[in-house]
Amino acid sequence: MTDELFREDASLHECSARVVAIDELGVRLDRTVFYPQGGGQAGDAGVLRLADGGELAVIDTRKGALPGEIVHVLAPAVDISALVPGSAVTARIDADRRKAHMRFHTATHLLCALVPHPVDGCSITERYARLDFHMNEPLDKQALTDGMARLVAGAHAVQHRWIGEAELDANPQLVRSMSVMPPRGQGRIRVLEIEGVDLQPCGGTHVANTAEVGNVIVTKVEKKSAMTRRVILGFAEPAAG
Ligand SMILES: [Zn+2]
Repeated sequence: MTDELFREDASLHECSARVVAIDELGVRLDRTVFYPQGGGQAGDAGVLRLADGGELAVIDTRKGALPGEIVHVLAPAVDISALVPGSAVTARIDADRRKAHMRFHTATHLLCALVPHPVDGCSITERYARLDFHMNEPLDKQALTDGMARLVAGAHAVQHRWIGEAELDANPQLVRSMSVMPPRGQGRIRVLEIEGVDLQPCGGTHVANTAEVGNVIVTKVEKKSAMTRRVILGFAEPAAG
């Protein structure tokens, strides 16, 4: 099991760690700040800095075959000869990419608060996010953008906490997503609360206050099928750099 530092503190950009294993899939560490792709959110990229100052580029982060395993995926043909189990590294994420994921991810929760229908798909990337709602009523792009802007301006606190499975079972309305059921069998479930706005199980990374979501707009509303309305989010400001 990798110690998942990002679950308790999404603002961490780096940590020291030790290499547990290396194989053709990538590098496993004893602890990490890298979020593995899951719950619709893309995996982190970044670097592993070695004791000699060298750096290995991490192009993606995925869950491994075993529960709790996190694989830091290296660029193809990277020389990993300096890495052995036990090697000390500094794991550092691409902070700009992560910040985009956190802003979009938090924005998808705001959308959930505005659209009272189950979610049946979600994808959060650096450049856009999309959320599929199980519904057949039309959605108004501008009304959703305005609604999100109001919740961003409201500067609501965003916090996670852990609840027991019994508490979740007693509150089935907590489960908003049809496609991503909260993980079971660990005895506790992480829930994400946006004060006065939204509460649902979620393992992803979020900003600490809705004000940090900033200028996110609805760029498109699509009818994907008779019972699916897809909402696509983008940043209103030009991409930095
Ligand atoms: Zn979330």
